[in-house]
Amino acid sequence: MQYYSLSHQYKVSFKEAVFQGISPDKSLYFPENIPLLPSSFWNNLENLTNEEIGFQLLSPFIGNEIPETILKEIIKKTLSFEFPLIQIKENVFSLELFHGPTLAFKDVGARFMAECLSYFNQNETKKSTVLVATSGDTGGAVANGFYKTPNVEVVILYPSQKVSEIQELQLTSLGHNITALEVEGTFDDCQAMVKQAFLDEELKSLNLTSANSINVARWLPQMIYFALAYKQLKDKNKEVVISCPSGNFGNICAGLLAKKMGLPITHFIAATNSNDTVTRFMETKNYQPKQTIPTISNAMDVSDPSNFVRILEMYNESYEALNNDFSSFSFTEEETKNAMKTLYATHNYIAEPHGAVGYLGLTKYMENKEVLGIFLETAHPIKFLETVEETLNITLELPNNIKEIMNKEKKSIKVKNYEEVKQSLGLEFLNTV
Ligand SMILES: *Cc1c(COP(=O)(O)O)cnc(C)c1O
Repeated sequence: MQYYSLSHQYKVSFKEAVFQGISPDKSLYFPENIPLLPSSFWNNLENLTNEEIGFQLLSPFIGNEIPETILKEIIKKTLSFEFPLIQIKENVFSLELFHGPTLAFKDVGARFMAECLSYFNQNETKKSTVLVATSGDTGGAVANGFYKTPNVEVVILYPSQKVSEIQELQLTSLGHNITALEVEGTFDDCQAMVKQAFLDEELKSLNLTSANSINVARWLPQMIYFALAYKQLKDKNKEVVISCPSGNFGNICAGLLAKKMGLPITHFIAATNSNDTVTRFMETKNYQPKQTIPTISNAMDVSDPSNFVRILEMYNESYEALNNDFSSFSFTEEETKNAMKTLYATHNYIAEPHGAVGYLGLTKYMENKEVLGIFLETAHPIKFLETVEETLNITLELPNNIKEIMNKEKKSIKVKNYEEVKQSLGLEFLNTV
């Protein structure tokens, strides 16, 4: 499969798209065609294993660039944890995506990308350096996914004191090929420095690649769990809709891609916090990002979501076609906390703020509709410990793998500006050639 840049200036293979992350003119890659899988596949989902479903969905996008047996092995490793669908009330279900090693859905994409890079790298003598900025969850997932991957160095930039203690330990305590740069600044500063590094001719020899959600290897495997959710409700013979708490819109974009391939989900809902650029776009047809507002669902504090252009491309820029399959609603902090309280008090379910926003979007869409609804619970409540404990007035029990990490030592290199980032990258390079 070939991928074209949305600027229509570049066309590359899957491998090149994975290594480049983004095209040289900073445009996202998009698959040249989206195959419609036969109805015999969709009708038979309940008789297929998760790995088989994953393979059918992903193999058209990879073609012969990874041999079938190896791709199956990669998918098996990617899906090595549970994706339970929990019934909340009669027609409402939570798809829990947080049972992976770092307790957020980003484990799926990070793991798949790490395995693909590792395969492509096996006959390379040069190392690649994965450079990534994180506001919290991406860093841990990428660190875990790439840990001890041969020929790959990982450098993570994170904003000092703006990630939770658990998130920080997840990305600073591994060592080996994982280096954490603790940036005195904000997430936006981290992202700006990563972008600058990609443009820096002097860093060419590092073979920099990005592991942010714009990378096709992080985006595509997210399709799989939408199909796994549908598989679990299929025998109810009812219309199914899915609500995704959305920030950079990678997750929902993968769901819509699965729909294009024939997944019988009738509608997708993008639920956002006060960073409501897409919600306003769906109301006014006018795309107008504002300054980012910090919220308790901080992984969705994005005002100009990178993946939205992919969604528009999928719908040939037709607002009407998009509006048919897709709605977007935004919610305040107050509403989010109230939803967490209702889910706990009435349905005995502990949701963290992102899942609660997803639940709100679903509830709003379902008001007058006889459908089955799923919302994605994108992270484990423990990752947002303070907010959850305060809002619900409860004490959360630490899962075992988190207890372990709490005893580990944080190792980071403090940096103040781009020059210092570059210096650390240079050291990294000298050490590893
Ligand atoms: C990253 C993240 C999101 C947003 O997902 P997108 O694919 O960027 O829309 C939602 N919830 C959590 C917990 C996240 O870490």
